[in-house]
Amino acid sequence: MLTGRAVVSLGPGVPLEVREYPVLPPEPDQVVVRIAMASICGSDLHMWRGEMPSLGAGAVVPGHEMVGRVHALGANWQTDSLGRPLREGDRITYSFFNPCGKCWACLSGTARCPNRYSRRAPADEPPHFHGAYADYHVVKPGQWVFKVPDSLPDELVAPVNCALAQVLYALHRIGVWVGDTVVIQGAGGLGLYACAIARVMGASQVIAVDRIPDRLALARAFGADATINLDQLRTRAERVQFVKERTEGRGADVALEVAGVPAVVQEGLEMLRFGGRYCLVGNIVPGAEGAIVPHDIVRTSREVLGVVGYEAWVIPRALDFLLRTRETYPFHRLVSHRYSLEEVNRAFQEAEWAQGQGRVTRAVLVP
Ligand SMILES: [Zn+2]
Ligand SMILES: [Zn+2]
Repeated sequence: MLTGRAVVSLGPGVPLEVREYPVLPPEPDQVVVRIAMASICGSDLHMWRGEMPSLGAGAVVPGHEMVGRVHALGANWQTDSLGRPLREGDRITYSFFNPCGKCWACLSGTARCPNRYSRRAPADEPPHFHGAYADYHVVKPGQWVFKVPDSLPDELVAPVNCALAQVLYALHRIGVWVGDTVVIQGAGGLGLYACAIARVMGASQVIAVDRIPDRLALARAFGADATINLDQLRTRAERVQFVKERTEGRGADVALEVAGVPAVVQEGLEMLRFGGRYCLVGNIVPGAEGAIVPHDIVRTSREVLGVVGYEAWVIPRALDFLLRTRETYPFHRLVSHRYSLEEVNRAFQEAEWAQGQGRVTRAVLVP
């Protein structure tokens, strides 16, 4: 019987283990994928540290950003989610969550179904391969599957189903008009994607905020016109003033929070013009509080939106965006370190260290 390796998490603080599980033939509505590459995302680090509950109970296979090839197709799968013929060996990307389609949020057209991880089961429960850090992943009903253009390398595609899709959808939801000034709070992986996407959507000016000079230099390579270094403009008032000076005193049209820090929210609001639009994506840790002045939303008619998850159309458009802009922006620089599955503990430790140093490094596992 064919078997495959899967990384198993027993909880924060416990070293990750690599276990062997049988690779079962797919049920009619499943696709068995041979993973080519899986990346470590910020939320994986949150779960690893125990700041967020893991996806599923008990011993789970972590990871959700990945790309792979069809190993075996269930009988009900003849095409991808765009109706294109799907065959064994095709390289695919897919949403990692499964909206249930039968809850109040789903029926209301909300991207974030509260049951979207309910098909995640413990690693010991067949079909075992529920996460990304493994030789295989089993795609289940509700996941959207898309063929990947041959010319895009795995390094560019692995983060598509989370980081890139999330930023693309968030900027779509908050809206970027031709001529907008867009502030990006946080120049990590999501922030760098956001600089490029805001540009492509028509922003006249993108301003990136971060503390690390290397990240800000990369933000410029991804399309930012101006950058704010928190160690140089040390006060909130100075940073708000910087944005106002570049917008004839108005403030920015849009600010996107991808910093993951509650303290930046009030600052982002203050950077906006009257009627400006604020979108939060990075603050995903439960219970992490921050102070805001509600007056600064109400009396200025600013809009505030939280976004997590995305809709099916986002992935093919994200792939198209990469195809069209891969010569313009250095996407290949986002993935820096490669590890085998057996090296997963080192991968997490080094990704954690790199993040503490402010490096923009997306570590990837290559099974
Ligand atoms: Zn992610
Ligand atoms: Zn639902």
